[in-house]
Amino acid sequence: MNNKTVYMPGPTNIKENVRQARSIKTTNPDIDIEFVEFYKNTCDKIGKIIKTTNDVYILNGEGILGLEAACASLTEKGDRVLIIDNGVFGKGFEDFVSMYGGKAILFSETHKKSIDIDKLKNFLEKDNDFKYATLVHCDTPTGVLNDLSKICPLLKKYNILTVVDSVAAMVGEKLLVDEWKIDIALGGSQKAISAQPGLTIVSVSEDAKHFIRSRKTRVTGFYCNLSIWENYYKNKKFPYTMPISDIVSIDKALDNILEEGIENVIERHRRIANSTRTALKEYGLELFLEDGYSNTVTAINIPKNIGALNLTNHILNKYNTIIGTSLGEYVNKLLRLGHMGENAKLERIIYILNILDSSLKDLGFQGKGCLVELFNKNYK
Ligand SMILES: *Cc1c(COP(=O)(O)O)cnc(C)c1O
Repeated sequence: MNNKTVYMPGPTNIKENVRQARSIKTTNPDIDIEFVEFYKNTCDKIGKIIKTTNDVYILNGEGILGLEAACASLTEKGDRVLIIDNGVFGKGFEDFVSMYGGKAILFSETHKKSIDIDKLKNFLEKDNDFKYATLVHCDTPTGVLNDLSKICPLLKKYNILTVVDSVAAMVGEKLLVDEWKIDIALGGSQKAISAQPGLTIVSVSEDAKHFIRSRKTRVTGFYCNLSIWENYYKNKKFPYTMPISDIVSIDKALDNILEEGIENVIERHRRIANSTRTALKEYGLELFLEDGYSNTVTAINIPKNIGALNLTNHILNKYNTIIGTSLGEYVNKLLRLGHMGENAKLERIIYILNILDSSLKDLGFQGKGCLVELFNKNYK
């Protein structure tokens, strides 16, 4: 289990200093006041990275917990909620909304491109009676990126709160929570932040807090109720025992990002992703998307006679390397190359492109030239 190389769009590769941080001696997170300060400071680092002065919490559970907690906290029975859907995770919000008694109304678009703002505008002109809307920043199974800078302020004009799943984009793509008026922004430790899986990041705006406070009915459940976090710092008390070693390790991962500078980290993702996409196309492979590429993951159409599952099995067996296919209908069609966080680095991308090149050749695909050379030629 230990020696595999991982190129999934999360959980991704973890840097040595983050791995080591997790093993340091810790204190009692329930009663040691120094830990409350440490935790708050870690949350503040996230606020700095995603450009928000909103409350930021780190919850004890991987990405999905944040998605569910946002819906559990905002939804009351019969509430109309707009589900902006151009991918598997986008549509997935429908389940969380209906699970908590909400009425999910879908705005569904092709998976091949970003949400078309004009179409959304037209839709909202006719119907805008929604308590909140859900949308995904980067929908990972296809790698499509949505333009939050346009979508979220548009929804806000209609007083619709926004819940944004940025789990697969946060840190790898620009995310300006305050400027874009995002009410609840969600992230995960295991994606571009490059820490171990197990933590959800949630930022909550004043508007969202106000909505939760003025609910007529209680939130169903405790663990997914965001309001249990509201006064943790004032009271110096957590709702439950915090996973202190996980917090120590994500803190180190955030230091790595702040040391490099978030703008530089985003630029590093852009350069790696751009040259990867161009190289793959020149090599003779087809990308799944028509536009709206996220710089954290690339979905590649794999020819039928090879099959995505066959290719990833080959890569695992021959090179001890894990690379993903996709989900749902795409499981045997798409290869997903995760180049997020620690994997958005030259030495890491060149390693996997080499493996991909030889594996495709092994399975009978004749690419036009050498994938790494094509990458190098385009890297600027
Ligand atoms: C990874 C991911 C999540 C969290 O789900 P996991 O079960 O941890 O994979 C949520 N949303 C998106 C878009 C993701 O990529």
